[in-house]
Amino acid sequence: MIYAIEPDGSLRYEWLFFEDDENGRLVVREEYGDLVCPACGKIDEAAALARGIGDGFRCRTDRDLVATSEDWLCASARFREFVEASRLEGLGFVPVPHSDYHVVQPTTLVETDETAAGFENHRLCGTCGRYSERVAGPLLAGMQLPESHSVFFGSSIANENVKVAYRPCFAHEDVIDLLKSRDFDGIDFVAAH
Ligand SMILES: [Zn+2]
Repeated sequence: MIYAIEPDGSLRYEWLFFEDDENGRLVVREEYGDLVCPACGKIDEAAALARGIGDGFRCRTDRDLVATSEDWLCASARFREFVEASRLEGLGFVPVPHSDYHVVQPTTLVETDETAAGFENHRLCGTCGRYSERVAGPLLAGMQLPESHSVFFGSSIANENVKVAYRPCFAHEDVIDLLKSRDFDGIDFVAAH
């Protein structure tokens, strides 16, 4: 059995890639300004993360897993330490400045057959080739599941919400049982299908 690992709460008005401009309008953070597609306004999240997380982002929570306003995941030091001590693979952690938290995302990306993965795609950008939204999928039926039971994984095809691309994180029930044994705060385990 495969589960999706989801936070059961979100940071309010804490955006990883966006900030308010002087008029109170939400814009891409200044340090990522050159990564914006001029046509649709989406940014290259991987390139942004490679530059590190801006000082302006705050992760104010005491949960072990929480979503930013654009639905990226942040995990506590306690969560990261447990994952590493348990030798679970497939997650990347990027430190959030001035905090014990990390932005976390699946780094094991499994081959995905788009025709079987159940995505609903909306409005393709002719300039960057991304959809304004890509939702509903990925279904397990379209994903080549890893043989290892001790790995977190995501789809090679990212989802898109109106703001950013993001990847839901999945794992085998063996991983879920381990996580449940540790009483983490703020994590939902949702049976994937
Ligand atoms: Zn675009």
